[in-house]
Amino acid sequence: YSEIPTGYPVPGKTLVYDESQTIDLDNEPLHGGILVKVLVLSIDPYLRRRMQEPSPLDFFPPFKVGEPLDNSGVGVVVRSENPSFKPGDHVLGRFLFQQYLVLPDPKLRKLDNREGLSLSAYLGVCGVPAQTAHHAWREYAQPKIKKGDVLFVTAASGAVGAIVAQLAKADGLKVIASAGSDEKVEYVRSLGVDVAFNYKKVSTREVLQKEGPINFYWDNVGGESLEAALEFAAQKATFIICGMISNYNTKEPYNVKNLQQLVWREITFNGFLVGSLMPKYDDEFFATMPARVAKGEIKYKEHFVKGLENAGQALLDVLSGENFGKSVVVVSEE
Ligand code: NDP
Repeated sequence: YSEIPTGYPVPGKTLVYDESQTIDLDNEPLHGGILVKVLVLSIDPYLRRRMQEPSPLDFFPPFKVGEPLDNSGVGVVVRSENPSFKPGDHVLGRFLFQQYLVLPDPKLRKLDNREGLSLSAYLGVCGVPAQTAHHAWREYAQPKIKKGDVLFVTAASGAVGAIVAQLAKADGLKVIASAGSDEKVEYVRSLGVDVAFNYKKVSTREVLQKEGPINFYWDNVGGESLEAALEFAAQKATFIICGMISNYNTKEPYNVKNLQQLVWREITFNGFLVGSLMPKYDDEFFATMPARVAKGEIKYKEHFVKGLENAGQALLDVLSGENFGKSVVVVSEE
């Protein structure tokens, strides 16, 4: 990570692939810990949020210029001096964007993967994006659902949105879903939603006017979509504010009109960070989600980018909608 970007991160400039460091795999001191070979790394929109000046009010520490990014990943243990890990164990955790890592004090989840899913599934449909969908759906939506309720979800072909759409259908809601290309819309339709549209071709306002009012809005994007959702919200609607990706690379945040509706429609806004909900819902999630995925009850799509040197491009692609499904960098085959 070499500079704070002013707009979109620029691969090769904001993020530079650096081959200058080497590691002696057989002799590198482990200090009682483990040596991990990184296999897959997750590319998520919030990485952009961490490319900024430090603010004392921010939950996530910003990345330090000159140091590698870090994010969720899956790796395999190569050597171990820690009795809890042995060579060949697959481990899930937060890794630096490197090919190999020495972790003196590993805080990692060992993957038994008894469902036989791909390792990358633990970064998406069984990882943080699905935890985000599951936990916030359980916390903010499920206690309030009534027969006939309608949900609108944005970025619905993405890692979070596609799970939200399926959880809502399983709970009997009418689901309206938007995505940024016809191909993505086709995919979202295949998940069983009731109304899917390409927000770049069709007006979100017009769709919500016809198919709403909406009782729930799952916001992944902010901006004009949020504005339209406010306009066509039902009385006492619940808004789950998960992300605002349309603002992540702009200098000035979008000035959302219709905020008055918070009063007149008695709308509840629930902004959240998934980390705060993990202690409450993680056990339930890991006990149920991998099995549901293995049975085919929950569908998912992955977007693979090969090679750590392409991580910068992968992030730019997520931030500009070029990814189609959960974005994963394949650092190394096993
Ligand atoms: P996705 O896999 O959905 O990828 C991002 C998608 O966002 C793109 O594919 C694109 O889809 C859409 N997008 C990009 N730019 C814009 C734009 N300017 N306007 C509208 N849509 C845009 O990412 P995730 O599922 O990982 O993340 C979805 C959201 O959830 C993000 O806002 C993220 O920050 C948030 N999030 C929040 C968490 C929390 O704890 N609150 C945890 C994890 C994620 P399309 O082509 O359809 O426009």
